[in-house]
Amino acid sequence: MKKKPRTLITNGTIITPARLWEGGAILVEGGRIASIGRRDDFGTLPDAEIMDATGHWVAPGYVDVHVHGAVGRDMMEGTAEAISTAATFFARHGTTAFLPTSITDSPEAIGRFLGAVVEAQRRGTGGAQVLGAHVEGPYINPKMSGAQPTEFIRPADRQEYERWFASGVVRLITLAPEIPENRALIPYALQHGAVVSIGHSAATYQETMAAVGLGVNHATHTFNAMSGLHHRDPGTVGAVLYADKVYAELIADTVHVHPAAMAILVRAKGSGRTVLVTDAMAAAGLGDGDYPLGAHVTYVRNSIARVANGSLAGSLLTMDQAVKNIVRETGSTLAQAVERASLTPARSIDVADCKGSLEPGKDADVLLLDKDLNVTLTMVRGEIVYRQ
Ligand SMILES: [Zn+2]
Repeated sequence: MKKKPRTLITNGTIITPARLWEGGAILVEGGRIASIGRRDDFGTLPDAEIMDATGHWVAPGYVDVHVHGAVGRDMMEGTAEAISTAATFFARHGTTAFLPTSITDSPEAIGRFLGAVVEAQRRGTGGAQVLGAHVEGPYINPKMSGAQPTEFIRPADRQEYERWFASGVVRLITLAPEIPENRALIPYALQHGAVVSIGHSAATYQETMAAVGLGVNHATHTFNAMSGLHHRDPGTVGAVLYADKVYAELIADTVHVHPAAMAILVRAKGSGRTVLVTDAMAAAGLGDGDYPLGAHVTYVRNSIARVANGSLAGSLLTMDQAVKNIVRETGSTLAQAVERASLTPARSIDVADCKGSLEPGKDADVLLLDKDLNVTLTMVRGEIVYRQ
């Protein structure tokens, strides 16, 4: 049977930035959202596939700006195939677009990683869409390395980062601005279309605010691997919570950050500046065992990932679970939780013109969620890539 050119999603409760729309309908055409309205507005539509979303939420696809791998595959393998395999898993858990994320490694390994991102973006993944790369490290503070291998941490080197930007895919860079050499990269990255995030940093409150003055407006896994908030010395965390323009990533797995600290963050930053990320690594979707994370090994025991020195490594979190945790642990509404997983991350990396919400003209990245917020269907640019 010939595929119909249009799809009408009906009978669900649509989550839009403006409101929850019970019984609304979304017309998808050419990979985009053509219009949203009442079912009756669309008439019979003989050329459209009708998708019945009765009993479901219709949500915008989630956007994960910080993720290292899944199902045994690591972004640092440096192949488009590893990225695509992980992307298929992400789509089952609601992620429709993401930034493959590197970890601190040799110049050659980061070069291979960026080459793989270029290739995966060109080919497409069959799952979540690649929007570019998040380069996390190597220009970080060894005192706040967390699970990043310290032997490759180095000050920013212009020849090296010029090569990164020549790839054309760098969208987000995590760095420690208190390292003097790293500060010159901030204006350079902004001029070349990337967003700069403070992370793995021991910056004081003053140093963080100075970096914000230079254009840093994003914080990598807030609370983790950064100087904490003391009331006479507010540290990186204090500056991130205080500076209104800073988007704050949060690993909402209740392991990396205590539920009370999760709630404090969402109250301080609001839905407009809270960015849910998974920071997931190769073990996501599998469970206990030993897994690669760049040049190192992570040990997963009782669903918690650590490197050999005992530091927490990336998580086993998925975006659908992060949304559930935010609703359960922080007293947020579903609409607020969904916004922090979709529109706010899209805005944080400047792709909200086509991503992040269900609005006419945007890409048709659509989820159906059951009443327990499990993903039952994922659509990426109008194509169904997962159905339960
Ligand atoms: Zn990470």
